[in-house]
Amino acid sequence: MSELRLMAVHAHPDDESSKGAATTARYAAEGVRVMVVTLTGGERGDILNPAMDLPEVHGRISEVRRDEMAKAAEILGVEHHWLGFVDSGLPEGDPLPPLPDGCFALVPLAEPVSRLVRVIREFQPHVLTTYDENGGYPHPDHIRCHEVSVAAYEAAADYRLYPEAGTPWAVSKLYYNHGFLRQRMQLLQDEFAKNGQQGPFGKWLEHWDPDHDLFAKRVTTRVECSEYFSQRDDALRAHATQIDPKGDFFHAPIEWQQRLWPTEEFELARSRVPVNLPEDDLFTGIEK
Ligand SMILES: [Zn+2]
Repeated sequence: MSELRLMAVHAHPDDESSKGAATTARYAAEGVRVMVVTLTGGERGDILNPAMDLPEVHGRISEVRRDEMAKAAEILGVEHHWLGFVDSGLPEGDPLPPLPDGCFALVPLAEPVSRLVRVIREFQPHVLTTYDENGGYPHPDHIRCHEVSVAAYEAAADYRLYPEAGTPWAVSKLYYNHGFLRQRMQLLQDEFAKNGQQGPFGKWLEHWDPDHDLFAKRVTTRVECSEYFSQRDDALRAHATQIDPKGDFFHAPIEWQQRLWPTEEFELARSRVPVNLPEDDLFTGIEK
């Protein structure tokens, strides 16, 4: 029996539910084996849900986030693996404070790479997804996630590297997630206006640098996954400490999203199989 396998690498618990989540849910539902790898425990994530901002939550945040992640993985129908590093936190202030001792962004690159190489060689994914070189947003762990994933994509196939981490495996395709797109946000914002509502995205759109056009410049692959949008939202809400259920991103009705923008977007960054872009399936060109 041959099967297809997809591995989605993310920095923190909740990233898997906000970046490419409906795509992973769709492939899992179609019988692809899907594994989410989370690099850090998310210990330094802010509690963004006022209803969860409780002393008993602060005291056991690592545990709470493990439980939330397990619930989200179950909702998406994916397998899950913790790589075991400590969240670096998002440094804020001017000047920026130094990163905390021992955090993921300060660990020498070879350490997370060797661990991810081991997981890749064991799971043998055909497709790997991660973030672009800017991290999708400038959190040090997201940028690190990009560096680790790209290095592991290369190293896992190379028998000379990390021989103790298992038999080499060449992942066929490497993608970057590109979910945060001005065109999508504008369509939804316009739909609010058509319905006589204000819409939550005005501030975002106003400050968007028109040159920062990932959709036009970088997206190669659009995966139809609208049937799985509510699963995506349920998985995101499972990260109850991190997500305000009254937040902007839950305002647009699912039916609008399904009608106006039924896809999730990716950029093919590297491939070991022949490709023909644009494409609508992460597995195009891969023989089972
Ligand atoms: Zn994150």
